[in-house]
Amino acid sequence: MENKRPFLTILGPCSLESLEQIAPVAAMLKRHGLIYMRTQLFKPRTNPDSFQGLGPDGVKVLEQLRKTYSSQELKFVCEACSSDQLAVIAPWASIIQIGARNMQNFELLKAVGKHFGPNQDYVLLKRGFANTVEEWLESARYLIQGGVPKEKVVLCERGTRSVTSPTGVQLDFIAALEAKKSGFKIIIDPSHGSKRSEFVLPLARASLQLGLDGIMVECHPRPSESVSDAKQAISLEAMEDFIISSL
Ligand code: PEP
Ligand code: MN
Repeated sequence: MENKRPFLTILGPCSLESLEQIAPVAAMLKRHGLIYMRTQLFKPRTNPDSFQGLGPDGVKVLEQLRKTYSSQELKFVCEACSSDQLAVIAPWASIIQIGARNMQNFELLKAVGKHFGPNQDYVLLKRGFANTVEEWLESARYLIQGGVPKEKVVLCERGTRSVTSPTGVQLDFIAALEAKKSGFKIIIDPSHGSKRSEFVLPLARASLQLGLDGIMVECHPRPSESVSDAKQAISLEAMEDFIISSL
């Protein structure tokens, strides 16, 4: 029996590193008729010495991709952590991602609507790793009051900080199912939600079995060389097997 594709599937590396890194990911998506790819130019990192993303230079890589893939064939998902970053990504990002660390950056949430136009399909609002469902939904209201149409707001559960989980994070399916009652679409990020590659695909599968609206999964052509979040990166081969078996 054919699997029914979820509402939203977003795949790709933690950070956009180079054309050489991203091109095989784009090719894999195309082979399977998937369109949304992670192309994060700006990375909020705990350690200020860690790779912060290619920044505005990353646009050159996106321009290169556009020589091969039209804007309907391949769509970019980019995070913004400030109004300045919103201005850089808005011409490129079909999905504007607001990350966990910025879920309650209210001025940023208000600014998203100013950049949300015909180029954008959705805003992806991740739950902060210590925030309640109620706070998450209030943050979604900031987006809407700022001008983002309600049906364009998609929520993403990415796990909460945990002192008992061996990886330090616990994917909270109960929160996702509770938030779904609000009428928003809810997708799951099992990569940041587990922090370890061995758990990512089983959790992705569980998310779909629970009837949630999609997944965002980090994958990389050479997982161990990923400049950020290497421990949770899935190989393209494993990703492709998952697409064939479960999407
Ligand atoms: C990400 O998805 O790139 C990310 C930084 O995740 P989070 O905001 O959930 O930590
Ligand atoms: Mn990551």
